[in-house]
Amino acid sequence: MAIMDGCEAKHKTPVLEERVCPMCGETVELFTRRGRVLEDTVCDCGYIFKAEEQLSAPQAKKKEA
Ligand SMILES: [Zn+2]
Repeated sequence: MAIMDGCEAKHKTPVLEERVCPMCGETVELFTRRGRVLEDTVCDCGYIFKAEEQLSAPQAKKKEA
């Protein structure tokens, strides 16, 4: 339940968000900022929600598929 406390602060403050694990269907709480997962979060089943924070560093390489 997000507290509507001004929209500007929301852009910088990590938000505790619930995501459904695609492996086991459990609801996992993880921290996001602007809809992106801030840090790797492990579900009880072992599934890892990978951090999705935007890469701003120029040396960051794109993912190799
Ligand atoms: Zn799971």
